[in-house]
Amino acid sequence: MGDPNPMAALEVDMARFRRASLHSAVRDVEEVLDLLVQAREQIANAPESHRASLTMTKLQNPVMAGFDTINNDLKEVSKAQKAYGRALDKNFPEHELPTEHNNLHEKWGLVNRALALHLLREGHFEAASTFLGEYDNNLPPPGPPTPAPPPIPTPASKPASASPSNSASASASASVPAPASVPAPVPAPAPAPASASVSGSTSSSSISAPPLPPTLGLHPERARELEVRFKDMYRIQGELKRRNLEPAIQWARANHAELASRGSHLEYELTKLQFMWLYKGAQVNGLPDDEHNGRVGALRHAQAHFPAFRATHRLEIQRLITSLLYASNLPASPYDVLLAPAPLFDEVTASFTREFCALVNLSAESPLYVAATAGAIALPRLIKYRAYMKAKRTEWTTENELAFETPLPRAMMYHPIFVCPVSKEPIMDPRNPPMMLACGHVICNDSLNKIRRSTRYKCPYCPAEGLVSETLVIKL
Ligand SMILES: [Zn+2]
Repeated sequence: MGDPNPMAALEVDMARFRRASLHSAVRDVEEVLDLLVQAREQIANAPESHRASLTMTKLQNPVMAGFDTINNDLKEVSKAQKAYGRALDKNFPEHELPTEHNNLHEKWGLVNRALALHLLREGHFEAASTFLGEYDNNLPPPGPPTPAPPPIPTPASKPASASPSNSASASASASVPAPASVPAPVPAPAPAPASASVSGSTSSSSISAPPLPPTLGLHPERARELEVRFKDMYRIQGELKRRNLEPAIQWARANHAELASRGSHLEYELTKLQFMWLYKGAQVNGLPDDEHNGRVGALRHAQAHFPAFRATHRLEIQRLITSLLYASNLPASPYDVLLAPAPLFDEVTASFTREFCALVNLSAESPLYVAATAGAIALPRLIKYRAYMKAKRTEWTTENELAFETPLPRAMMYHPIFVCPVSKEPIMDPRNPPMMLACGHVICNDSLNKIRRSTRYKCPYCPAEGLVSETLVIKL
């Protein structure tokens, strides 16, 4: 959009607001306080009444003058504050938000679930635990009692209580069992792979799908498991930040099968980076200067771990090993670029986070973050569109879809759908794929069949004509 950045217009007033500090006001208040304290001491030390009233009289003028000074000090601050407020109003005019359709109505369970998951994955474990506990506590009272499920066979869980209003334990932590008499069990989220290398976490596959709170769908056991896992993730990320690859490599080796089945090269990338990091030697990597470090250490590491990746990364491994021959003259060799580990650490950390989340069946980004960010990007258009519709006196009829395009960043596009411009219908059926005409316009196959005349068609959007046999199927 062509709107100027509203922050730029605010900057002048913001700078003025920053300069207008309360320092002088605070100093002058302290001076007045000093006067008052001195006076109090004088009166306390000389209790004769005429001395006291003399002290009080003498105090009047300086205190009044002090108040005036303070008021003057505050004037600058309040002036800047008012100017800043006016600038805010001007640059961020208040818009009435579109509230006709509340698509989240009746879906508070999903919102709460997103909140709880967000807290968990951002590492706010205590807040997540409190949130989940309070959510459990505030569940509506269950309907007619149903038989309690068999006790969950995990040593960590407390005996299942049939009463959801067990406030003492329910608010204590996320490890409290779900209320047993909740109707309509929701299917549990797919259990995370059991072979994850997290010690102390209960493998969720051993739990016989206990009932979940009706809407939240985040069983306390799952929440606790996620907490353990995310703590592990943060620990490994922290080590990566300190350039210690070992914990991440161990994690990748422990989850070798799952990573391979996802087509992930994380394990190799980590192993490669370790080679490059060792290659740099003690002066750069700060590791002990022994036979496990430097070129010798890198070679040993390569001999031990590269063979596992021979089938998939043969060429790169050959180049990495060959680079050892050029060690004395590396900057002039073609291998120098190959051995620049610094940017790789960030890439590998991002890749690790993505794979880690995938293995606990979560997206790499928190859905709450994505939804809020996408919403903030889309909102100005939504407001504009609504104003336009009002002016045109037409109604917004498509309740579950936006009637205009929202320019989201590439990373926020997940499942693009194609809506045929002729039939106006979203195309989901693989038997009716989008077809690209010779002119480049795209319509769905059904629409193409409707407009074709025998083997030829005329594009509904431009003067071009063409042969049906020359159109191309677009795979979504
Ligand atoms: Zn065309």
